[in-house]
Amino acid sequence: MVAGDARQILVSEVGPRDGLQSIAATMSTAAKKRWIDALVAAGVSEIEVGSFAPAKLLPQLADTAEIVRHARLHPGLTVAVLVPNRRGAEDALASGAHKLTLPLSVSETHSLANLRRTHAQVLDEARAIAGLIAEMPAAERPHFEGSLSTVFGCTLEGPIADDVIRRCAAELMAAGADEVGLSDTSGYATPGEVRRLVALVRAVVGDAAVQGLHLHNTRGLGLANVVAGLDAGITTFDASQGGLGGCPFAPGASGNIVTEDLVFMLQAMGYETGIDLTALLRARDVVGEALPGEQLFGFVAEAGLPKGFAAPAQPVFAAELEKA
Ligand code: ZN
Repeated sequence: MVAGDARQILVSEVGPRDGLQSIAATMSTAAKKRWIDALVAAGVSEIEVGSFAPAKLLPQLADTAEIVRHARLHPGLTVAVLVPNRRGAEDALASGAHKLTLPLSVSETHSLANLRRTHAQVLDEARAIAGLIAEMPAAERPHFEGSLSTVFGCTLEGPIADDVIRRCAAELMAAGADEVGLSDTSGYATPGEVRRLVALVRAVVGDAAVQGLHLHNTRGLGLANVVAGLDAGITTFDASQGGLGGCPFAPGASGNIVTEDLVFMLQAMGYETGIDLTALLRARDVVGEALPGEQLFGFVAEAGLPKGFAAPAQPVFAAELEKA
């Protein structure tokens, strides 16, 4: 992998966190480990393996510390976790996670409903987490991402004012985050809004501090939004195997964008993900076996790869990338 190579895209698998927290069934700890091992065998280099939310709120993810310890056995794998607050971050740091993501819902109504915290309170948590990280030896500090959730709109508030988004992004960075991600919590994103909001947030915090998009496929625009993100120079995309979790607002729609379909599209466009599609489909089988009866989404797993499929050596959009 060459840092800064425009052909290199990081696919961050979030199924073990976002997928598993959204379903009623609980995947066994042993199956989670098998899944992570299969993902790593397929070449996946970043996995969000769980959340350090209180176990009584998310019993499906109560074994996150053990899963982090297991995932860390894979050299080169970035082990990411979600943390809702300082308390969760303490557990995350003790477990040895490499990357912590703290969500800040730009919709304050959503923030109060979900985390029972105002923006000011979440930013206090962000400062406390950055403080904990700063106390660590430099070589052991995890990457700290602030995620702007509901940034494309909120099921409670609707569209969020640009000024609120700008302020949240600036304050997360001022609180000590290393980067801010844009998260389509509600499945409202469209390609135009992806381009507009990536530019809007980058204008506030700088291009280097906005690398990642977390997209859902609630209205079928997930991969179109990825293409818009690629055009905007985004290099990290979250996705979930089998689109696990579905979407509570839109029956038949996956939750997160489907990793297998995302990787297929990226490879077909000439981007490098480091992921072997056939092995990725085998990892999906691990999920299906561990969660019998759970609906998995995605087109490539159903239809198979096109006959003679081979990824082009150069991105189809190379001309645009060179201009950017
Ligand atoms: Zn999500």
